[in-house]
Amino acid sequence: MPSNIVKKYYRSNTLPHIWCHGCGNGIVTRCIVKAIDALGLDKNDVCVVSGIGCSSRASGYLDFNTLHTTHGRALAFATGVKLANPKLHVIVITGDGDSSAIGGNHLIHACRRNIDITTIVFNNNIYGMTGGQYSPTTPTGEKGTTAPYGNIDPNFDLCSLAKAAGASYVARGTAYGAVQLQKLIENGLKNKGFSFIEAITACPTYYGRKNKKGSVVNMMELVRDSAVVNNAWEKLSDEQKQGKFIVGEFYNEPRPEYTEQYDKIIAQYRKEGGL
Ligand code: SF4
Repeated sequence: MPSNIVKKYYRSNTLPHIWCHGCGNGIVTRCIVKAIDALGLDKNDVCVVSGIGCSSRASGYLDFNTLHTTHGRALAFATGVKLANPKLHVIVITGDGDSSAIGGNHLIHACRRNIDITTIVFNNNIYGMTGGQYSPTTPTGEKGTTAPYGNIDPNFDLCSLAKAAGASYVARGTAYGAVQLQKLIENGLKNKGFSFIEAITACPTYYGRKNKKGSVVNMMELVRDSAVVNNAWEKLSDEQKQGKFIVGEFYNEPRPEYTEQYDKIIAQYRKEGGL
């Protein structure tokens, strides 16, 4: 029997989804839905925008105002939606390649503007839908179809990138730690500004298989064992930090939001007789 959450927020005519068995995308999507439910947001006041990739298919499964857009451009479309109707809670669902390679420029400028959009990056360290090419978050030395002998690029720390570019809320969680991830998304939705939440998730079909990470269960255990909470991180030696990452809230500093600033300019223009 479908749960109330599924009945209320998913489009039954688009299910079952096409994600592979063991893919973490379903867990992360459910965390987003549960965060919306916990905050009591009206479905009609929510707009979910996605780009292209496995995770971006989520917008088709969810029963909100939704836009499934072009590769890397989810934030550009979301910016237009937010400017046209600033009252909407605009949520962007994107992957690591979609957001930081093809859409990298949109990402840094959305952060810089501090426009009130909550972006959740499903980071599975690879391009899943297009066939396992390495992405900007594939760890150095790991393999993809376009890096059969190992990737030589250093990988992006997406949270550091978002914080440096100006996002006013930055956090990282995992598909394994679903309760924590939901809470981080709730906090991101509450922030009046650009919120960036990285959700570490597993792609057993491409990343796992190419890099011999074992079964689906092994991959989830790897996510669990690699995630270190903020205050425990400092106690680790450099050697112990190898292959691990921090989870939690990294930055939460509200500052003037873009559409509000934009409205002030319009009001000023009107006051001076421009319109
Ligand atoms: Fe998930 Fe990877 Fe399958 Fe895409 S290819 S649905 S990311 S497991």
